[in-house]
Amino acid sequence: MTDSESREMICILCPLGCKMQVSEKPEQPGELKVRGIQCKKGKEYACEEYKNPTRILTSTVVIHNAPLPRLPVKTSRALPKGLIYPAMEEINRVEITGPVKIGTVIIKDLLGSGIDIVASRSL
Ligand code: SF4
Repeated sequence: MTDSESREMICILCPLGCKMQVSEKPEQPGELKVRGIQCKKGKEYACEEYKNPTRILTSTVVIHNAPLPRLPVKTSRALPKGLIYPAMEEINRVEITGPVKIGTVIIKDLLGSGIDIVASRSL
């Protein structure tokens, strides 16, 4: 593997925000080399982000019978990045009726991921 295949990312685990370079070790396929980190947690984050990047997704859905027209929602845990756009399409189709309590499951098992979309606030 050449240097051009190394990936740059910023560690978001603490305010230092170390700039990391992650690449596969040519002599050990599947093993990652991480440069620019200052701690073990940063290395774990870099490896996870390289192999399976995930994000907490936040959005809103239409809500009827409530003081506001849209209810803030989020994923119950981090979603693989590749599912973000299909997830947004699913979320955009949802309309619910209030009242709703914070933590209520709005979409169960989003796209078969095992991750739910839940209400971020009561409304
Ligand atoms: S690598 Fe360690 S020190 Fe650097 S930003 Fe991440 S958590 Fe902080």
